[in-house]
Amino acid sequence: MIAVLKPNVSEDQKKHLIDWLSAQNIDVHVSEGHEYTVLGLIGDTSRLDMDLIASLDIVDSVKRVAEAFKQCSRKFHPDDSIIDVGDVKIGGGNFAMIAGPCSVETHDQIIEVAKAVKASGATLLRGGAFKPRTSPYDFQGLKADGIELLLEAKKATGMPIVTEIMNASHLPLFEEVDVIQVGARNMQNFELLKELGRTNKTILLKRGLANTLKELLMSAEYIMAGGNSNIILCERGIRTFETYTRNTLDLSAVPMLHELTHLPVVIDPSHATGQSRLVEPMAAAAAACGADGLMIEVHNDPMNALCDGAQSLTPAQFDAVAKKVMKIRACLGE
Ligand code: PEP
Ligand code: MN
Repeated sequence: MIAVLKPNVSEDQKKHLIDWLSAQNIDVHVSEGHEYTVLGLIGDTSRLDMDLIASLDIVDSVKRVAEAFKQCSRKFHPDDSIIDVGDVKIGGGNFAMIAGPCSVETHDQIIEVAKAVKASGATLLRGGAFKPRTSPYDFQGLKADGIELLLEAKKATGMPIVTEIMNASHLPLFEEVDVIQVGARNMQNFELLKELGRTNKTILLKRGLANTLKELLMSAEYIMAGGNSNIILCERGIRTFETYTRNTLDLSAVPMLHELTHLPVVIDPSHATGQSRLVEPMAAAAAACGADGLMIEVHNDPMNALCDGAQSLTPAQFDAVAKKVMKIRACLGE
């Protein structure tokens, strides 16, 4: 971190600041210019309150040189992380195809969809049991029974399961869940992230509706700081002024995150667009720009889905998307 002091700062004021920094185990390298003094702050600056330093009367500006996120930074871990979920690998050239309904609704629904998406090449089964709905009057998910049905679908197909957690107190219900999803609305639920950091579960962390990539990485850092580095990041569209699509899919997140972090990045074109006919082109684009996987909503009867029918593909439509994605990956030699 670098702090530039204002002109005409007295030696006493300078010493006072340097002593305060030293007391926090920060070494200070002082560089005196004609007008300004620049302090180079060396050591673990992650705990320093940058805004507090910037607000001091004698400070002109403060800049972080190292990233605030460390363990998830590519500087810390230059190779791609490969996340193991049972026999499935994600990242470092291993492409994850996560598919399934928005919500688990019935035994027959989840079994039928699971078998169909597996036959089309899906590697993980998704399905919401605890649903974060905008309205409290909408279907909230089958909760513990939904997880039981997912486990039955896992037994029937061998596919690992992905499902969302909304409250850390529900963790005991997730014991046999392979991948715990943190939804967009909980990306900055720091107490939940800390709890998940204490587990060894794979976490699928979705970007918040209005969060920057840096904030996404800081949330991943919360999980890693607790000792859990099994994390998959997911871009699912962000809220912009555009209204024709449910969200705006930020595909540049893929190459940008690949530069910044070693964690795998998957794209969810279903929540990003909100419309089933837009899922295929966006899935294709995600594969073309180097995403490590896709998460796609598939329902056996979208017209009667209890949640997100408009963006859900039929199994036949998913089959076509999966084939296209495989072709694109083959063209790219991946
Ligand atoms: C979901 O994947 O079911 C979901 C609710 O997604 P998001 O958190 O991205 O809205
Ligand atoms: Mn959904």
